[in-house]
Amino acid sequence: MRAIISVYDKSGIVEFAKFLEEKGVSIISTGSTYNLLKQNGIGATSVENYTGFEEILDGRVKTLQYKIHAGILADLSNPKHKEELSIHNIEPIDIVVVNLYPFEQVAMRSNNTNELIENIDIGGPTLIRAASKNYKRVLVVVDPKDYTRVMENFDNIDIDFRKKCALKAFALTSYYDSVIVEKFGYKGDTLNIGMKLKKSLRYGENPHQAANFYRVPLKKGLPNMVQLQGKEISFNNILDIDVAYRMMIESTYLSKPFMCTIIKHNTPCGVACADNPQDAYEKALFCDPISAFGGIVGINGSVDANLAKKLTERFYEVIVAFDFEKEALSILSKKKNLILAKVDKVDINSYKENKDIKSVVGGFVVQDSDYLDDFSYEIVTQSKPTQNQIEDLKFAWFVAKFAKSNAICFALNSQALAIGAGQTSRVDAVKCAAQKAKDLGINLEGSVLASDGFFPFRDNIDLAKSFGATAFVQPGGSIRDDEVIKACNEYNLPMIFTKKRHFRH
Ligand code: 5GP
Repeated sequence: MRAIISVYDKSGIVEFAKFLEEKGVSIISTGSTYNLLKQNGIGATSVENYTGFEEILDGRVKTLQYKIHAGILADLSNPKHKEELSIHNIEPIDIVVVNLYPFEQVAMRSNNTNELIENIDIGGPTLIRAASKNYKRVLVVVDPKDYTRVMENFDNIDIDFRKKCALKAFALTSYYDSVIVEKFGYKGDTLNIGMKLKKSLRYGENPHQAANFYRVPLKKGLPNMVQLQGKEISFNNILDIDVAYRMMIESTYLSKPFMCTIIKHNTPCGVACADNPQDAYEKALFCDPISAFGGIVGINGSVDANLAKKLTERFYEVIVAFDFEKEALSILSKKKNLILAKVDKVDINSYKENKDIKSVVGGFVVQDSDYLDDFSYEIVTQSKPTQNQIEDLKFAWFVAKFAKSNAICFALNSQALAIGAGQTSRVDAVKCAAQKAKDLGINLEGSVLASDGFFPFRDNIDLAKSFGATAFVQPGGSIRDDEVIKACNEYNLPMIFTKKRHFRH
């Protein structure tokens, strides 16, 4: 038997090559892999000696040779192939051990085109693909983690094993290419979303659904989330942390430095901003402490001891923050099951580039991310909003954007007072929010109201006014805008149009 070994990541390779040598396998090897094997007393032949051609073009051409590839690709059950090998004096190669130049790691840290290009492995994927195509005869090993398994099963390697190895290898080269595509930003008619398994999850949205967490190449954000304590993170936790995270990143839009959000079933049930994290949290909780039970709290800063003490007074599933102070960690550690998720504060510009991918049966729909980074509007009523109202409208607009559609938010003083979300009619969202406020004894008098989509009829204004709303923000764009503006003018209340809709399904 004959093996070619050409590895960038040399972990475990000496032991594996020694094993192959002991099994009587002849080894052919490239440049620095060859040197390493030699240094360790392993009897390998260099590719140059084997093929009669030296490595050229600074290593760009090492194994891209007739003698190597015919040796891998020959189908020995085909007499013609056998004959051709013998005419050309080519020996069959039975094992291919290769791992690739670390394009992904380089792409994470560098934008230097020449450096990136030099890290695109050509010979490696060619060896891997040739071996994988011919898996019926050839064994391909692309992951150092598999060396042990190969050694344990070496005397019983059958076609199923070789096929699994080949598919793993094709998955690797396919992912490898998708990272190149992602890095260089190809926009064409194929969707390259090669994804890497980040974590196997206990189950999906419900216990009978299997689930995994994948990450898109080179993307920061939740894939870089670190869990500091608590029970195993679930599928639903990840989805809810994602909303909190988006709000934390987009909170740079708000006028106050700290924002706290409490998420339940993928929608905020309390949001506020303030000059310190503890006030932001207490103001957020005020909106709906009943729904907050078992929720996910997101803070766009560091959790300090004061906030940690407050957080331990209630039952939450997850606290997500950009950081946790040491003392806060010690206070929160008393809640053994509570998950603490520390997330990277990514740059807003790279955040904006994220694609929003949703699945449909048999495919995906993909859209640009819906981020909020400025508040531009037009005043459409005779009455003009005051500066305080503008601030509240801006804040309420932020909350309505993240609440599930149809969504409305009553807010005052950088605090959500009542959120109506996930309703199938906008007027129901208004009623639902007002009912909640009533049940909790919250006074909506003097508040402002934001709506994530346009008001289709004036009934929303009539109702909201009766509950105490004094100013409105909405995208506008309904065929009945005139009717809705007229309602505001009748009440002498200001309304602004943003001309931008923020549905979230
Ligand atoms: P070595 O460290 O042994 O000098 O090189 C090992 C690396 O070279 C492996 O990552 C392998 O994928 C890659 N490789 C093997 N053959 C070729 C080739 O012909 N051209 C290029 N560019 N890389 C190759």
